[in-house]
Amino acid sequence: MEKIVSLAKRRGFVFQSSEIYGGLNGCYDYGPLGVELLNNIKEQWWRSMTLREDIEGIDASILMHPRVWEASGHVEHFTDPMVDCKQCRARFRNDELPESGACPNCGGKDTFTEARKFNLMFRTFVGPVEDSSATVYLRPETAQGIYVNFFNVQSAARQKVPFGIAQIGKAFRNEINTKNFLFRTREFEQMEMQFFVKPGDDDEWFEYWKEQRIQWFIDLGMSPDLLRYNEHGPGELAHYAKKAFDIQFLFPFGWGEIEGIHNRTDYDLQQHEKFSGKAMKYYDQEANEKYIPYVIETSAGASRSFMAFLVSAFAEEQLEKEKRTVMRFHPRIAPINAAVFPLVNRDGMPEKARAIATDLQKRYRVFYDDKGAVGRRYRRQDEAGTPFCITIDSQTLEDQSVTIRDRDSMEQVRVADAQIAAYLSDNLGI
Ligand SMILES: [Zn+2]
Repeated sequence: MEKIVSLAKRRGFVFQSSEIYGGLNGCYDYGPLGVELLNNIKEQWWRSMTLREDIEGIDASILMHPRVWEASGHVEHFTDPMVDCKQCRARFRNDELPESGACPNCGGKDTFTEARKFNLMFRTFVGPVEDSSATVYLRPETAQGIYVNFFNVQSAARQKVPFGIAQIGKAFRNEINTKNFLFRTREFEQMEMQFFVKPGDDDEWFEYWKEQRIQWFIDLGMSPDLLRYNEHGPGELAHYAKKAFDIQFLFPFGWGEIEGIHNRTDYDLQQHEKFSGKAMKYYDQEANEKYIPYVIETSAGASRSFMAFLVSAFAEEQLEKEKRTVMRFHPRIAPINAAVFPLVNRDGMPEKARAIATDLQKRYRVFYDDKGAVGRRYRRQDEAGTPFCITIDSQTLEDQSVTIRDRDSMEQVRVADAQIAAYLSDNLGI
C-alpha cells in the first residue's frame, strides 16, 4: 500500500488536499494522471448504464430540501457511536475500538467517555441567517436525488417500469475517523443507478444487476480473484433493505466494499409519499394497476473503484538488468493512451515525431517525450500505465514506419505511420 500511495503522489495520481498547509484529514485531490483515470472510470460506467434504452441519466443538486433527509431517515438514524479518550482527547468510533479496551492512541485503559450518537451529515445554512430553519445538508448519498425525481424522469423520458436512473456525483460524510487512503474519505464520489421494478419482479432484477456489476469490474481488467460478493446477514441489513450484497475488492489492508447492490423495496418512495404528501404510485398501463415500484440499487464508489483499479494495476517486475514498476490499466481507462518519442533529437526525427503526436492528439491523449534514453522513457510510461509507446527512428525517415511498443509484453511491432491511428483504435478499444 505504501508503494502505491507513494507512486500515486510522485506520478500525479493523488495528492493530499491542501498539502502546503499540512493537509486536511480525509480529503484528497486528483492530479493530472488521476483525474484522467477517474474520468475514464466514470465514462466507462456512464456508458455501461446509459447506452441502454431502459436507463436515463440525471445530475441532481448536492443541496436538497432538508425534509428529504427526514424522509430518508438520515436525520434520525445516520449516526455513528462516538467516544473520546479522556486522557489524550483522541476520538473514535465505539464499534472500532480494540477488544482490549485500551486507547489506540495513548494506550490508556478505561479512559473513554460514554458513547454518544454523532450524525455524519455535514450541515450548512442557506442564506445569511444561521439558524435551524435555514439548515441544509451536503448530501450523504446521491440516491435521494434520484428518488425525488422519479416521476419527472419517468414522464419526461416517457419511460415505463422497469427502468433505471443513473447518476454520478459527490457525496459527503463527516466520518469520525478516515482511513486507508481513498477508502474512507469525508468527500467522495458515487456512481449510482436506481432501477425501478414492479413488486414481485424485484428478486429477478436483483440477481441480474448483481451479475452485471461484478462483470463490469472484470471487463475492465480486474482479476476475478480480487473480487467477491459479501451478503449482508439478517443482523446487518439496513432497516429498509430486503437483500443486500457488497462487491468487495482485496486491498492490501484486506477485503473492502467497492459497490453495494441493494433491494431497497418501496421504502424510499413510500417515505417520500408520506413526507411530501405527493402520491408516488406509478400507473402501470399494461397491467392496469397502481403500485409504488421497488428499487434495486447499484451503488459504486467512484473513489473506491479508482483505488481498486490502482491496486489491481500495480505490478513490479524483475527484468534482466533492472526492476520495472508498471501500472497495467485496462487500455480503456489508462490515463494516457499513447506516448510518442523521437529516438534521438536530430536527423529530422523530432519534427516527424511532433507531426505524428499532433495528429494523434486530435483523438487521443498523447504524451510527447524527448528527454533521456529511450529505455528510461519507456519506464516512465510504464509507471503511468500508458499502453503504447510509439518511437520514431532512422528507419522511419526511410520507409515511414514506426515502432509501437506494448506496455505489458514489451514487444515491438513496426507499423506504417498512416496506420498508427487505426492500430490504436483497434488495440485501445476506444
Ligand atoms: Zn488516549
